[in-house]
Amino acid sequence: MRRKLAAGNWKMNGSSAALAELSALAAPADCTVVICPPAPLLFRAAEIGAENSLHIGAQDCHHENGGAFTGDVSAPMIADAGASYVIVGHSERREACNERNRDVRAKAKATWAAGLTAILCIGESLEDREADNTLDIIAGQLSGSVPNGATADNLVVAYEPIWAIGTGKVPTLDQIKEVHDFIRAELTERFGATVANDISLLYGGSVKPGNAAEIFQAENVDGALVGGASLKADDFNPIIAALAAS
Ligand code: PEP
Repeated sequence: MRRKLAAGNWKMNGSSAALAELSALAAPADCTVVICPPAPLLFRAAEIGAENSLHIGAQDCHHENGGAFTGDVSAPMIADAGASYVIVGHSERREACNERNRDVRAKAKATWAAGLTAILCIGESLEDREADNTLDIIAGQLSGSVPNGATADNLVVAYEPIWAIGTGKVPTLDQIKEVHDFIRAELTERFGATVANDISLLYGGSVKPGNAAEIFQAENVDGALVGGASLKADDFNPIIAALAAS
C-alpha cells in the first residue's frame, strides 16, 4: 500500500534546542512523518523520534561506505545513528555541489545497501519550465538518478520544482498533477504497475499550512517534502493533519 508521507527538511538550520520541536509533532497512525535534521543532530533526533512515532532521515550521504572523504557522512553511519531515510539529489546539492544524475544514483544505491529509504528529489528550473521542457527534464532525472531495483520500501520520489523552493511560488494544481501523473507513468513503465503504484510521490516547494490541503487533492500526490514550514511544529502539524485528512 502506498504510504502517505510528510517529510521535513531542516537544511542547515537547527540546534540541539530545536529538537524540542520533535516532541511537539503529532504523527497520525496512517501517515509516516520523517524529519531530516542536520547530521550532528541525527543520533539524538532518532532517540526522540522513537518515542514519538517519528522517522528520522539525513539530508545527503556519500556513495562510499567509508574511507578518506573528509567531511562526508556515509549511509551505514546514518543507519548506525538510528535514521531510516536519506534525501538524495536535492536541487540545492545538484546546483551548489554540482551533483549529477549519476552521483545521485550512486548515493541512492548506497542508501539501499545500508537498508535505508532514499527520498530522491527531481525538479525543473524556471528556465526549463518556461521553455516547456519540464517533462523531458523529469524523465531524464528519473532514468538517470533512480537505480534499478526500486521498490516502495527503498524509494520515495519528491518532485520539487526548483523555482518553488523557498520562494513562496507554487505551481498550479494542474501543473503538479501533470508532473506527478507523468512520474507515476514513468515508474510504471520501468518497474511495473505493482511496484510503481506503491511508491510514494511527494510534492515539495513552498508547502505551507495554507496550501497543503489543496496540493494533497491530486491523486498522485502522496505527501510533501517541506523545508521552511517543517522547522516549527506549529507550522508542520497542520500540514501533517491536512495529509491525514486527504
Ligand atoms: C525543500 O527544501 O525541499 C523545500 C521544499 O523547501 P521549502 O518548503 O522551504 O520551499
